[in-house]
Amino acid sequence: MKLTKETIWHFTCDFCKLWWSFASSDEFQPKKKIFCPHCGRRNEIDDDA
Ligand SMILES: [Zn+2]
Repeated sequence: MKLTKETIWHFTCDFCKLWWSFASSDEFQPKKKIFCPHCGRRNEIDDDA
């Protein structure tokens, strides 16, 4: 069998302040620019976040 560990990423939109989450494996690195699924605006991720 194969074991995987799940990491949940939480994003908070700079514009509408709503948040969403995204589950992935440990290797995932979020892209610098992410579109909010609520308002559709583009968020940029801070390097020190
Ligand atoms: Zn938004």
